Amino acid sequence: MKLTIGHLYPDLLNLYGDRGNIQCFIKRLQWRGIDVDIVSCPSGSRIDFERFDIVLLGGGSDREQELVCQYLKKVRKDFKDYVEEDGVVLAVCGGYQLLGNYYKTSSKTIEGLGILDIYTEWSKKRLVQNIILKNPFFLNPIVGFENHGGRTYIGNYTPFGKVLFGLGNTGKSGYEGVTYKNIIGTYLHGPLLPKNPEICDYLLQKALTRKYGGNIRLTALPDSLEHTANTYIVKRFARSF
Ligand code: GLN
Repeated sequence: MKLTIGHLYPDLLNLYGDRGNIQCFIKRLQWRGIDVDIVSCPSGSRIDFERFDIVLLGGGSDREQELVCQYLKKVRKDFKDYVEEDGVVLAVCGGYQLLGNYYKTSSKTIEGLGILDIYTEWSKKRLVQNIILKNPFFLNPIVGFENHGGRTYIGNYTPFGKVLFGLGNTGKSGYEGVTYKNIIGTYLHGPLLPKNPEICDYLLQKALTRKYGGNIRLTALPDSLEHTANTYIVKRFARSF
């Protein structure tokens, strides 16, 4: 078995260790004897979504998002087809914003992919801090770090999690991120997956099922260090939980 992971625009969308998410995918597949190929797709390269089982779109500054926008326009249709065919996507912060219709900054409007009918508007006070979420599907709270000027309005989509501590999509809604089919869009950097191995395995399982059918089950890994780290963060910031 083998999964192929497309890392989109790592030269522009690469904030706060987002590429650690790729490392986490690689290690958790290797530990189970599953092969993995990473296809790095820097800006300007040709992107063939048909090869991919997982796509990672990382975070970026407003300036980098504006630069990436011109490349995204060229792949919009292929990316959307991939999503509708249940392709797995992890989109973090700037990448999450770009899945939507637009990101309006203080000075311009950056066009998004329009894969999700959501939008983002910049506001002066940045939302910067540790963040903890709860999603009833996952056993452990989801921990991370957020740093964004944009406020994302997700309408009727299902959020990634309820905010236990931190600010989330708008700082007011009480929710963070978005889910749709096999997409997770989130503001959580840190990077997300090493801090939350359950989320990593969830995405890997989705990709394996899409590629090889429902009989493939990931074996459990011990994860005791990961659980200790998760519990420490949760106790530190969201004691009442
Ligand atoms: N530039 C975007 C914002 O400030 C996204 C930042 C990020 O990816 N951390 O909202």
